[in-house]
Amino acid sequence: MKPIETLKNELSEIADLKGAVNVLYWDMETYMPKGGTAARAKQVAMLEAIVHERFIGEDVSNPLGELVNLDSGEIINGLDEETSRLVNEIWRDYHRAVALPKEFVEELSHTSSMAHPNWVEAREKNDFNLFAPHLEKLIALKHREIGYLDTQDTPYDTLLDEFEPGFTTANINVLFGELKTALVPMIKKIQESGVNTKQEILHQYYDADKQWEFSEMILKDIGYDFHCGRQDKAVHPFTIEFHPTDVRVTTRINEHNLLDCLTGSIHEGGHALYEQGLDQKWYGTPFCQAISYGIHESQSRLWENLVGLSKPFWEYYFPKLQTAFPENLSAVALEDFYRAVNTIKPGFIRVDADEMTYNLHIMLRFEIEQLIINEGADVASLPELWNDKMEEYLGIRPETDTLGVLQDVHWSHGSFGYFPTYALGNLYNIIMFNKAKEKLPDLDNQIRSGNFLELRNWLKSNIHQLGRRQTAKEMIKSISGEDVTAKPFINYLKKKYSKIYSI
Ligand code: ZN
Repeated sequence: MKPIETLKNELSEIADLKGAVNVLYWDMETYMPKGGTAARAKQVAMLEAIVHERFIGEDVSNPLGELVNLDSGEIINGLDEETSRLVNEIWRDYHRAVALPKEFVEELSHTSSMAHPNWVEAREKNDFNLFAPHLEKLIALKHREIGYLDTQDTPYDTLLDEFEPGFTTANINVLFGELKTALVPMIKKIQESGVNTKQEILHQYYDADKQWEFSEMILKDIGYDFHCGRQDKAVHPFTIEFHPTDVRVTTRINEHNLLDCLTGSIHEGGHALYEQGLDQKWYGTPFCQAISYGIHESQSRLWENLVGLSKPFWEYYFPKLQTAFPENLSAVALEDFYRAVNTIKPGFIRVDADEMTYNLHIMLRFEIEQLIINEGADVASLPELWNDKMEEYLGIRPETDTLGVLQDVHWSHGSFGYFPTYALGNLYNIIMFNKAKEKLPDLDNQIRSGNFLELRNWLKSNIHQLGRRQTAKEMIKSISGEDVTAKPFINYLKKKYSKIYSI
């Protein structure tokens, strides 16, 4: 057998193992009883170590070594372009993995599994001290990880590279700088406009079962395949894949906030369409994997915001929503509902934020993470640091840690360097959506009649099916002909919100 075929077979088996580990993670955050935490932490840590060992073992390194120089990453002559690209991406993963000792992988997995329920409890009880010792351990482990891996420009860049390959802190500072310069005055104008978007429409009592049914209907309509997936409830909504034929989504329900469940489902549905749309022919290899966290987020936020908060979308769904909740909505006009769902208002919680202030939530986390990783900021100082940054960026100060430093799950997973990818997703998705609209001039009308097929197919053939054949930067350039900038996103926000707020 050719080395590339041997390699593909081995990677396919490793992907099966990873899929099985993901079933355990999915269960951990949906149905597992609390008492199972310690045992599950051991189970997943052991399995993660096995996955790691197989990936850096001889059954990968021998065939890979026939295709590429394992130390330098230089491709050995004679490979066609497609195979070179594939081998390049496999080597990238291998090179990163081989630098990490098995004991370290096991310890990181175990520590984060143990940290997670403590974060949940700390958040419930509004007591940062319950989480602080776990966070300290995780930060120490991250420093060890940075020590094992190649050093990039800064220690934080080494972590960032895992989530958004090819992006550095310096790149992101430029993009976030553009964004901040445009957003801060825009948000100020909106706050001073005096326009009331009647948000109370969304905060009446909405029956949980009916919300659930509505969210599943939208998921089906946008093309999420329930034959190859299912929706469950979770504290912090997420999507997880076991294989492209089994991609699970989760959402949460708040009977006094209509948007929580709907936007949660549409957002996760966007992630799931990406995973369900990958090319199974390449299962186990980078060509059947998402490009980066930022590109993944571009897919979820494209559906959640660009489609799900648009006028054409609600022209189709609002009458249906009125039928489902006549007591709340029969007397509400579509225009008022559209403005209510597009309210811009600084708030404490990132996941509840509107599409404008959301980006400021990301910027403050990006700054704090750099202080933690590059400057060694003290864990005990984080609640205060968080509140100061929130005041600086959003003009509001949380009164509790639950509304501040404890709100997000990421650090309990040991994920530092992840947050910037959320804002990058916003910058990418409008570039993709603009191109899709250019290619599908009738798209608004299609959305207005609940037809999402052509948009989904465009995303599938231009993004999902390609796997990691391109980097994020290359993909954006191939779609728009330009490098990533914040301008298209800023223009989109200006155009949309100048109408809603008459500014
Ligand atoms: Zn997401």
